[in-house]
Amino acid sequence: MPILRSAFIALSRNRAIRRFSEHSRAGTKLSSRFVAGLTIEDALRTTEAVNRQGMHATLDSLGESVTSPDQAHKAAEIYHRLLDEIAAHKLDSNISVKLTQMGLELDPALAESIAEKLAEHAAATGNFLRIDMEDSSLTQVTLDIVRRLHARPDLRGHIGIVIQSYLYRSKDDIAQLIAEGIRVRLCKGAYKESESVAFPKKSDVDANYVALSGMLLSSPIYHGLATHDEAMIAAAKAYARQHNITPEHFEFQMLYGVRRDLQRKLVAEGYNVRVYVPFGTEWYPYFMRRLAERPANALFILKNLLR
Ligand SMILES: Cc1cc2nc3c(=O)[nH]c(=O)nc-3n(C[C@H](O)[C@H](O)[C@H](O)COP(=O)(O)OP(=O)(O)OC[C@H]3O[C@@H](n4cnc5c(N)ncnc54)[C@H](O)[C@@H]3O)c2cc1C
Repeated sequence: MPILRSAFIALSRNRAIRRFSEHSRAGTKLSSRFVAGLTIEDALRTTEAVNRQGMHATLDSLGESVTSPDQAHKAAEIYHRLLDEIAAHKLDSNISVKLTQMGLELDPALAESIAEKLAEHAAATGNFLRIDMEDSSLTQVTLDIVRRLHARPDLRGHIGIVIQSYLYRSKDDIAQLIAEGIRVRLCKGAYKESESVAFPKKSDVDANYVALSGMLLSSPIYHGLATHDEAMIAAAKAYARQHNITPEHFEFQMLYGVRRDLQRKLVAEGYNVRVYVPFGTEWYPYFMRRLAERPANALFILKNLLR
């Protein structure tokens, strides 16, 4: 399995296959298991369906690592439109944004000013902007930007961040974020990292996830636990029960199309569930990361396609 995982991660970075796949009808069909569609309208329709099932959503307009300020501004435009559409249609959804899509690798000041405008728009519409976390070379700059924006009194509570349990530094980061009152989404981490910064063993990543979940649940802030791992979910539920933390105090988050059975079960049990709904033409790297997480999905999708 580690070989297949590496193969899918390598494929996720292959430009030629990416170009071909994103422009082919079969590619788009393949991706529909994990991607809500190509357009804003597709994403809104999916959000409505997610809401009808009693779940919150967060919308992700796919794309990362833009190569010009113009591309960054265009990507931001989509998010501004989403915030307006969410308000107009009274949907229960916030937005998830990657700073490299807002130009972080070109100029951190550009990404920060774009994120600031999005946070202002989110605050003005009573909504919330989640900044996704990317690879470890960007952890510090991402934290710095979110902290600075959250320190603006009018943006407080309208912007949050993601922390990955595979990084050694995450315990300290979470302690500081809690002290500052910043909402955290905890995930395991999806990028290939070296053992100088991240636990190489999955059992350590999992143990850290459980420990960090406890820190988050014990804090007075509303956080998100993003995982499809039943062991992580069971540990969080048990911790909450033991410490009299009621379900409205936190939420579970899962990706669109992954473990729908578990999503429905948690809702039926009275937990808050938020579904991460990605959409857009640039679906290829996201889709390949999902296959890397569970190579068996490739077989499953192929079977469905042939059926
Ligand atoms: C809402 C959300 C937001 C995220 N945001 C970020 C982010 O900002 N930055 C980042 O680095 N990562 C992010 N991730 C990805 C995350 O880091 C993991 O790579 C991903 O969630 C897989 O880890 P897991 O906790 O589900 O557990 P794993 O240990 O990978 O899997 C546990 C079990 O979950 C099920 N499962 C997991 N993945 C799949 C799948 N693709 N298909 C079917 N079943 C699956 C399987 O049953 C598997 O055995 C996010 C994940 C979620 C759910």
